[in-house]
Amino acid sequence: MIKSVVPAIAIGLLLVVVNLDSVAAEDKNTNYVVLVTIDGLRWQDLFAGADERLINRENGGVRDVDAIRERFWTESPQERRTQLMPFFWNVVAKNGQVFGDLNADSVVRVTNGRNFSYPGYNEILCGFGDEAIDSNAKRPNRNVTILEWLNCKPNYQGRIAAFGSWDVFPYILNQERSGIYVNAGWEDLEIFANEREKEQWNLLANSLPRYWSEVRYDAFTFLGALEYLQVKRPRVLYVALGETDDWAHDGRYDQYLDAAYRSDQFIQGLWEACQRLDQYRDKTTLIITTDHGRGDDRDGWKSHGTSIPGSEYIWIAVIGPDTESLGPRTNIHVTQSQVAATIAALLGEDFAASDDRIAQPLPGIVRGNE
Ligand SMILES: [Zn+2]
Repeated sequence: MIKSVVPAIAIGLLLVVVNLDSVAAEDKNTNYVVLVTIDGLRWQDLFAGADERLINRENGGVRDVDAIRERFWTESPQERRTQLMPFFWNVVAKNGQVFGDLNADSVVRVTNGRNFSYPGYNEILCGFGDEAIDSNAKRPNRNVTILEWLNCKPNYQGRIAAFGSWDVFPYILNQERSGIYVNAGWEDLEIFANEREKEQWNLLANSLPRYWSEVRYDAFTFLGALEYLQVKRPRVLYVALGETDDWAHDGRYDQYLDAAYRSDQFIQGLWEACQRLDQYRDKTTLIITTDHGRGDDRDGWKSHGTSIPGSEYIWIAVIGPDTESLGPRTNIHVTQSQVAATIAALLGEDFAASDDRIAQPLPGIVRGNE
């Protein structure tokens, strides 16, 4: 008799211990997702580090060639990429998975046919390419993003937030209809643990020269997201970094590399904050990707779009408790449109079932889902 009572008590305790946030997740460990995009960061630079053809004044607009070589150049591509993005290669790639190294027949393709930002973010967030989205104009997205879809569910309502450097995000995410929290462009940051810090940071942001009128510096986007994470504890946090793309359009490969390096530090900051908080530790999956690729040659690297060959190739990385540590994946072809359903699957939800156009989750990211 006594023997059978003990397991019954144990099972009872287990049921009590189950956190509210994991009700829909069942056997999944992921209760929280952090999605980070790094605008227009090329797979070439991610997988092989700084491109020697561009570390010069003529092709890369590099001002101090010696300094950039010192920071980012070494013969081995494996060492070079780690110099550029140390956290990505030492932690994310080692303990998670990375797709998109064309040299290893690992292909992530953009399917929207445009290969620029709004169509790319729509594809990442909505799960399909929409041919009607043919510009970066500030038009409210007619499609429902994974963020909006989740926000309609009671377990996620009011617990989804997005921080973007680019001021088009309130439209891409259809802030008005979706009701999700969006802070983008040079908007003041609102949520801080410390009110005095909030004032000081906003004062600083408003005192700096605005090199791009539509894109704030990623440091502010990161800071806002980090504070929000700690204060509001969202289920899904989207952080859209933007500088890499703008420096590339400006023809500044030195600044582009520096922005990629800083993006890596910001990702590290977000991930380490999650691991410091009991609520998020070992329950958070981080997904990192980009909206489009860029060209490969001495001029092409600056731009992207239908007329720039190769700008349809991107990359995706995932690290989290449900994702096996397979490292860089090889011989696999996936698409940008698979990110949205992957976010849902990690949370134990089926986004693809809500619309025929939505692509299935990435294979092998959620255990048991090949
Ligand atoms: Zn661009």
